[in-house]
Amino acid sequence: MTVLLLGGTAEARELATALVREGLPVVSSLAGRVSRPRLPEGDVRHGGFGGVDGLAAWLREHDVHALIDATHPFAETMSRHAAEASARTGVPLIRVARPGWSEHPDSGAWHWVEDHETAAQTAARLAAPGRTVLLTIGRQRLDAYLAELGDRPVLARVVDPLEDIDARPVPANWTSVLDRGPYELAGELELMRSHDVAVVVTKDSGGAYTSAKLDAAGRCCAAVVVVRRPAVPQGVELVEGVSQAVEWVRGRL
Ligand code: NAP
Repeated sequence: MTVLLLGGTAEARELATALVREGLPVVSSLAGRVSRPRLPEGDVRHGGFGGVDGLAAWLREHDVHALIDATHPFAETMSRHAAEASARTGVPLIRVARPGWSEHPDSGAWHWVEDHETAAQTAARLAAPGRTVLLTIGRQRLDAYLAELGDRPVLARVVDPLEDIDARPVPANWTSVLDRGPYELAGELELMRSHDVAVVVTKDSGGAYTSAKLDAAGRCCAAVVVVRRPAVPQGVELVEGVSQAVEWVRGRL
């Protein structure tokens, strides 16, 4: 009997710790995208499953009794595959996702957009010429910003060095800063002030791990552009916290 925990987030690591401490048989799964991932407690597997077919086969082969999708709120493909594999195999699935940032006191002043292309257009419009746009959206969708911001000063915060963007060269005006959360307010203020940041672009990731940039943007009078979350796949139960997820697993095993 196994609990498969699709991870890659701070919440997933917390959940793995909680399940291991309860003596529950959990295997965490990491996509294998970053070179030095933070490892959760307990057993870990790395790399994709090979689509829905591969995931469904894995669930059957490993006698999985409960599937937890604790991937990042923007890991849309993995979440969809989890929902399809669960429907196909009958393995119960729950989605764990921290609340977004819509309750932040400044959120009413932010520019909420549906996708990265619109975020790029909005940032280009809001940043005065010569001032910097800070992209904190990871590396995967940086391509969506090339057309609008390719010749503007951009600071892209990424975990691993940025050698190219979707096989295209990194624009000469772009600088990358290598870092990963958790972030503190003082560091975020220093980063924004030293690079003359006018606009911060973020996904609505939620949580406290990376939220200091929102407070720092408010203090620096930088505009904030927020890409809305993709929807949770239809019919999948959503919980926000680790303790609810542990309760759910107990009920399944
Ligand atoms: P994605 O686009 O939804 O998934 C693309 C493919 O990567 C999936 O089809 C799957 O490959 C593989 N994959 C993703 N998560 C996996 C996991 N936990 N275990 C095994 N395979 C996984 O995902 P993504 O947005 O690239 O994110 C990749 C990982 O980084 C996720 O685990 C996520 O939690 C973490 N992360 C993502 C973000 C973000 O903003 N997207 C931010 C922080 C952390 P197969 O089809 O071959 O199974």
